[in-house]
Amino acid sequence: MNELVLATGNPNKVAELSELLGGQWTVHRRPDDLPETVEDGETLQENAAKKAFEVHVATGSAALADDTGLFVATLGGRPGVRSARFAGPDATAEDNLRLLLDEMSGATNRAAYFETVLVLVDANGGQTVVSGRCDGMIANGRAGRGGFGYDPVFVPADGDGRSFGEMTADEKHAISHRGRALRALCHELA
Ligand code: IMP
Repeated sequence: MNELVLATGNPNKVAELSELLGGQWTVHRRPDDLPETVEDGETLQENAAKKAFEVHVATGSAALADDTGLFVATLGGRPGVRSARFAGPDATAEDNLRLLLDEMSGATNRAAYFETVLVLVDANGGQTVVSGRCDGMIANGRAGRGGFGYDPVFVPADGDGRSFGEMTADEKHAISHRGRALRALCHELA
């Protein structure tokens, strides 16, 4: 079976990606001795491609990378590609969440979407790019303890009014940006 190295060491993402791609690929997590990629691109695709190519060059294997952003209409698309560093270079998820709720305080237009771009670089250096988007709104406060990042304040339009933070992993995965991008990738590779 083909070997695929993930550009992430995040155990949640490794488990999710391995489960979905395990039928076609032997999936490995990012090698521990690889330096972190500097995510300085202006788009999700630039960052994902940079991560995937660095892992491909270092390992000689096929490599898969993802990059995700939360795009909020009333904030002109911020935090967008800088979602992980919204509240500063060393911001925690909690810092980012608090800043988002502060900036949205009193806003009536609460529309937002998550987007994930996946870049697969095959063993010969060929590139496959897919994306997935999930529309929704930013709630006035947090709800739920599930998920991660901005999940407690994001209410997907395709759901039943609960935030991602109130959903099980399977419920979220069925409608999320990352789930959609992964299904698009499986379709491309089929
Ligand atoms: P990354 O590209 O997956 O590293 O994500 C960039 C930023 O978006 C980080 O701050 C994550 O916490 C946040 N993020 C990514 N995916 C999700 C999600 O599915 N729910 C909530 N936050 C997310």
